[in-house]
Amino acid sequence: MLAAELPTGLARELTNAVGGAHVLTDPEITAGFATDWTGRFRGHSPAVVRPGTTAQVAAVVSACARAGVAVVPQGGNTGLVGGGVPLRGEVVLSLVRLQDLGAVDVAAAQVTAGAGVTLARLQAHVAPHALAFGVDLAPRDSCTVGGMIATNAGGMHVVRYGTTRAQLMGIEAVLGDGRVVSHLGGLVKDNTGYDLAGLLTGSEGTLGVVTAARLRLVPLPRERATAAFGFERWTDAVDAVAVLRARVPGLEAVEVMVRAGVELVAGHHGWLPPPALLAPVSLLVDAIGEEDPLQELARAAGELTLVAEPAVATTPDQRQRLWAIREGHAEAINQLGAPLKLDVSVPAAAIAAFVAALPGLLPAGARLDLFGHLGDGNLHVNLTGIEGSPEPIEAAVLSAVVGAGGSISAEHGIGTAKAPYLHLCRTPAEIATFRAIKAALDPVGIMNPNAVLPPP
Ligand SMILES: Cc1cc2nc3c(=O)[nH]c(=O)nc-3n(C[C@H](O)[C@H](O)[C@H](O)COP(=O)(O)OP(=O)(O)OC[C@H]3O[C@@H](n4cnc5c(N)ncnc54)[C@H](O)[C@@H]3O)c2cc1C
Repeated sequence: MLAAELPTGLARELTNAVGGAHVLTDPEITAGFATDWTGRFRGHSPAVVRPGTTAQVAAVVSACARAGVAVVPQGGNTGLVGGGVPLRGEVVLSLVRLQDLGAVDVAAAQVTAGAGVTLARLQAHVAPHALAFGVDLAPRDSCTVGGMIATNAGGMHVVRYGTTRAQLMGIEAVLGDGRVVSHLGGLVKDNTGYDLAGLLTGSEGTLGVVTAARLRLVPLPRERATAAFGFERWTDAVDAVAVLRARVPGLEAVEVMVRAGVELVAGHHGWLPPPALLAPVSLLVDAIGEEDPLQELARAAGELTLVAEPAVATTPDQRQRLWAIREGHAEAINQLGAPLKLDVSVPAAAIAAFVAALPGLLPAGARLDLFGHLGDGNLHVNLTGIEGSPEPIEAAVLSAVVGAGGSISAEHGIGTAKAPYLHLCRTPAEIATFRAIKAALDPVGIMNPNAVLPPP
């Protein structure tokens, strides 16, 4: 049941569970929770409920399950596929008050974090122990541990440490009927049945609510070097990734940009980018180590087919200036109008042909902006200036991705945006298995009902 207003009994139960101050019903306030970061996805909600403990989450979810009222979990609301937005009047379950952050276990290099802890707070908490979290994303000040787990967030350092799933040592979650499952011991070896942390990671709030997680930490690098390399052709940039992997043991990030996007960001801020970033295609590369890894990067550069002098950052300021251009892409593109964002991955061997074919799939007048994490074969295809329904273009681009052996969602998830296209990359047997898992963990079907799975 989707409620324009909360049933009276449920409103009372929610207030009893979390306190009246944390059941927000003023439409001017709930509107902020019902619109996504891009402005493309807009919904409405009778109430935003903000539990402060796992027990309160369980009470809220059980009450909603009993009332048959659908729930959309939400963390920092930085998701880009409409998964955290109450598109059809669901209750929003905001997890930002789950702020517990345990003592850092230096011996195990682990920490337990509440779902509402932001990535920036997590990073700041572990850094004094010479440790870091293996996943880093631009919206670090807003995105939460729970949201990152729910989307299996990727980001800049996947080439070194893997996605969020690879950082999980245990999870605590409230399932769709209010049952709590908790396994936060953090044992490295623990083959005692099904991997619930792995299952809930990437489930986008459709199976349950992540309330806390035991996270693996990595050494905080002592030294870091950053360089930008410019290429004439995509094939040269793709070939460069293989060289960098082979020659730079401390490789941490390999990000790709194109000239039009760099000019857009630079123009937006009034910056002057270095020539390497004004090449047709450029890579921004980070390497880390105990010793300065600049020599590793310089040696690798000698084997690359470059069209401009590499830009090298030797101070934190210079480094920040190069990274600001890469991290400024999403915001600068948003200024052109709510973009159609297609986050895809394509096998390395097929990337150049896929990029070359893209303009032919777009209508006249559409603007294409491409950037992404080339080290993972992950491209963010951003389209603006589209008149009318974006669906035919979306379908054409995603079909081309699948045709190239790629994935229709590299790291942002399926959400509501790509649920109609899930069948392009998952077989009927796989989708039936997904539905069976959902039925077991969310028997009433209240958890984020518009996300991931298309209507049967
Ligand atoms: C500028 C910008 C750059 C970005 N860069 C990257 C990037 O490099 N890599 C990347 O992977 N993503 C990126 N993203 C997308 C986004 O930041 C990630 O998906 C992030 O993990 C979302 O976290 P959140 O807390 O904001 O989640 P939300 O947006 O609030 O929610 C996202 C999804 O998770 C579910 N959810 C949230 N919290 C919970 C919970 N506790 N339990 C169960 N389900 C929950 C929601 O229902 C929704 O389906 C970027 C976004 C922006 C705006």
